This record gives sequence, structure tokens and C-alpha cells, in this order.
Amino acid sequence: MFIADTHCDTLYALAKGRKPDELMVNREKMLGGNVTLQTFALFTGSNGTHGSAYEDANAMLSCMDQLSVDWLLSKLPDTYPSVPTGIISMEGGEALEGNTQRLYEFYARTGLRMIALTWNFENEIGYPAKLGKEPGLKQFGLELLKHMDKLGIYADVSHLNEAGFWDIYENMSLPPIASHSNNREICDVPRNLNKKQILAIIERHGYIGINFYTNFLTKSSTASIDDVVRHIDSIMELGGEDVLGFGSDFDGIEAWPEGLCDSSCFPKLIDALSAHGYTQTQLEKISHLNLWRLLKTADRNREYN
Ligand SMILES: [Zn+2]
Repeated sequence: MFIADTHCDTLYALAKGRKPDELMVNREKMLGGNVTLQTFALFTGSNGTHGSAYEDANAMLSCMDQLSVDWLLSKLPDTYPSVPTGIISMEGGEALEGNTQRLYEFYARTGLRMIALTWNFENEIGYPAKLGKEPGLKQFGLELLKHMDKLGIYADVSHLNEAGFWDIYENMSLPPIASHSNNREICDVPRNLNKKQILAIIERHGYIGINFYTNFLTKSSTASIDDVVRHIDSIMELGGEDVLGFGSDFDGIEAWPEGLCDSSCFPKLIDALSAHGYTQTQLEKISHLNLWRLLKTADRNREYN
């Protein structure tokens, strides 16, 4: 079964000087887990270790070759990738520096598929969930949504506050997606989604990538694969079969469920879901087809040079 994963911080780890074979996501581990579509984030949600968030993003882009995977930086193929392949997202809009021209630049260079508008700090676009529910997006954020809609770049709400979420819901024609967030009813932390948000994502046919970080799965000090299954079950019960996926957060987390420590472990999760009664059709949607549908939908309206 092919796997798609909507979030990892592997490019950030490489830019910090880590070696591919030390990481939770690399070509070999992707092959081991049959992860053939990995979203690699340009993590620029801080002031920047290279002087600016924009320069940080460039440092991460210069690390792409180290991963020896195929990259989909422009028009998507007709069929889902069958070999380890990467697409680019942005986590924290700081790298745009409050300038829509930067959006077009990253789009042209990387085929940018999604942007987590904020990380855990306020930026030019809006405010993070960590700082509370309000206020909504800033003027530049609302302006940015129009350009993202035009370019087919999804707004990723994973770190965003709730008022920002509803601004996206109301102002974008592309549906909101959460690349790496869980269900707040199961684990009540600001980074997870509440029931209204989950229902809104389902209604708009968006996406929720389940995050493997222990602290977002459970209030216990340790997590198991069953905790991941529990979050998936709870969103399935709300009608989420067509929006669920995986957003591991590998290389960005310091605690994970036992047995789910890197990309090669995905088959164990699929086996657990299968043993729990999920059908082959449901597993294919959750494992990769839900994300592929979204990417292809946006790609059809994109213009490439
Ligand atoms: Zn994150």
C-alpha cells in the first residue's frame, strides 16, 4: 500500500547539519515504508538561523539533493508516484516577508503545494493557535489567500488560531487543510482541531493529516499505535473518510508512538487499521488517495512555465 505523508521537518534537520542516514525520513526508510509521496516543509516559522526566514528557506532548498528522491516541482503526473518522491510545503509564512512576490517566487521554484500560514508565533499573516482563538488574519494574510487560491496553493491551518481558520474557510475557494493536527476531543491541546473545525474540513472536502507527536496524541507520557488509530476512528465517526491522511511530523518531534519511529514503520500502522476493521478502499484513501485527490484538483488549475 502506497503511503503519503503531509509533514516532516527533514529539510530543516539537513540545513542544521544532520546527515540523511541519521534522519527519520530518508530514501531508504521511505522505501521500507512504501512512502512514495512525502511533503517536505520549508520550516521558516521563526526569525531565521541564517539571518532571515527567507535565507533559511533557501538553505533548506539547497539540501534537497541530499535526499536522493524524485521531486515534483511542477505539473503532477497522471498517476500516483511509485518511487520515493517529494513535494514542497512551507511551515510559517515568515519566508514570504509580507510580500506576495515571494509567494510567486517560491511557487515558480518549488511548485509550492501548501503553506502553514503561521508557526507558533505571530507573523505578517496572522496568529498561532498557541496564543488563543483571536484575532483573525491580518490584511496581508487575507490578500495572500487570493493569490494562493489563484496559484492552487492550499492554506494549511495546522498551527493557525481558530479565527484565522474561519477566515480561510470563508474567503478561499480551496478547502482548508491541516497537514499535521489531531482531534482535540481526544487530546485537548491548542494544536489539535475542534469538532466544528473538523466538520468544516469534511464539509469542504479538505484534509487532516494525523500527527504522530506523542503530546498531540495523548495526555499520557507515552503513546502507542492504538492512539493514532483512536484519532483516526474519531474523525471517521464524524464522516472523515475522504479527508483523512497522515502528517507524521517526523524529524520535528522528540516523542512518538512505540513502533512508529520513522518512515519505514508505516506498514505497522496500516496493519493496525486493517486489524481494526478498515476496508481496503478506506485504507487506500487514508494512506494516499485523499491527498492525491487534493493535489490533483489544485494542479489542474495551475499555470506552469
Ligand atoms: Zn509543525
